Amino acid sequence: MTSQKLNTFLENNLQELKDNGLYNEIDTIQGPNGSEITINGKKLINMSSNNYLGFANDDRLKVKANEATDTYGVGAGAVRTINGTQSIHDELEAKIAEFKHTEAAVAFQSGFNCNMGAISAVMNKNDAILSDELNHASIIDGCRLSGAKVIRVKHQDMDDLRAKAKEAVESGQYEKIMYITDGVFSMDGDVAKLPEIVEIAEEFDLITYVDDAHGSGVMGKGAGTVKHFGLQDKIDFQMGTLSKAVGVVGGYVAGTQNLIDWLKVRARPFLFSTSLTPGAAAACIEAIDIMSSSTEEHERLWENGRYLKAGLKDLGFNIGDSETPITPCIIGEEKLTQRFSKRLTEEGVYAKSIVFPTVPRGTGRVRNMPSAAHTKDQLDIVLETYKKIGKELDVIS
Ligand SMILES: *Cc1c(COP(=O)(O)O)cnc(C)c1O
Repeated sequence: MTSQKLNTFLENNLQELKDNGLYNEIDTIQGPNGSEITINGKKLINMSSNNYLGFANDDRLKVKANEATDTYGVGAGAVRTINGTQSIHDELEAKIAEFKHTEAAVAFQSGFNCNMGAISAVMNKNDAILSDELNHASIIDGCRLSGAKVIRVKHQDMDDLRAKAKEAVESGQYEKIMYITDGVFSMDGDVAKLPEIVEIAEEFDLITYVDDAHGSGVMGKGAGTVKHFGLQDKIDFQMGTLSKAVGVVGGYVAGTQNLIDWLKVRARPFLFSTSLTPGAAAACIEAIDIMSSSTEEHERLWENGRYLKAGLKDLGFNIGDSETPITPCIIGEEKLTQRFSKRLTEEGVYAKSIVFPTVPRGTGRVRNMPSAAHTKDQLDIVLETYKKIGKELDVIS
């Protein structure tokens, strides 16, 4: 017999989510994740993936993944520190370091476990971490796991950061103090104020950690938010994912040789979880090669972002203050937001609603992720559909 306590817990909590419109149904896509996807046999224009440059289904990457699978096998066979480090992994790390202009880099199996491993490898219970209140869940969990005192900083509020850094230093309680932030915040598309952050970090001797999951491939001609501001020598941890613009899977930290050497002996997912598959590593290398040699996809991404934003704004939607191609369409109330998204899908546009607890209550939004792979025709259909549903649900007049 299974646990009655567990069953009661699950039934009550699932029902509560459903009653409040907070239960997320998972859609399965049939085939690749491109600018058009198929769900339940229906073709939809896809405005919801993080596949910024269209690399997730790019033939050049697929060829490299297949070649590497032939050469190295489908799996690495062990964790990196036993004998799961193949030449393709070393090659990937060298490539990331070169792209990021750092001494070295270390690759993980995902961005999520990269944050879990990297933060807790350096920070401990004698330390404090200043963390932007809207940081990604993997940062929050990584900070918790480290055992350090976590001090929430108001979103992008540099006065609050300065005040809390000062207080933490003056308390004399902490051996090390880190400031950690997303480079690009994925729900609103705003960019971390790195020049001011670096200034404050220098004043208070803070360790700086930038999670550039949504900045890599997007900001700084592809090399990320830190490169965008020219601060490669001032940020300690340049963390990023290989799963968004790069289009594959994985995470990494780029930094000094000492930092990377330390992570390779202390970051637990690196030590205790099997390495990236050789095919994934090879596809990532190809993606970085493409980004290094051409800005074609990058320019198309930004152009598509500008086009979509201007169109939605003209229609009268609230698109917030995004500084990147990420285009939220803020609807407000949770159920209305979910209904809006559902109607879009029925009309052939797949754009997910994002509601509490992912974003604050009352700020439900349909988030649009334009990519280099979208055509102008597709974006025009998206805008027409927004217009129709917006009027139907009284969101615009
Ligand atoms: C997506 C994301 C991650 C997790 O990356 P995965 O490679 O998907 O595990 C970490 N941090 C931020 C800010 C993200 O947006």
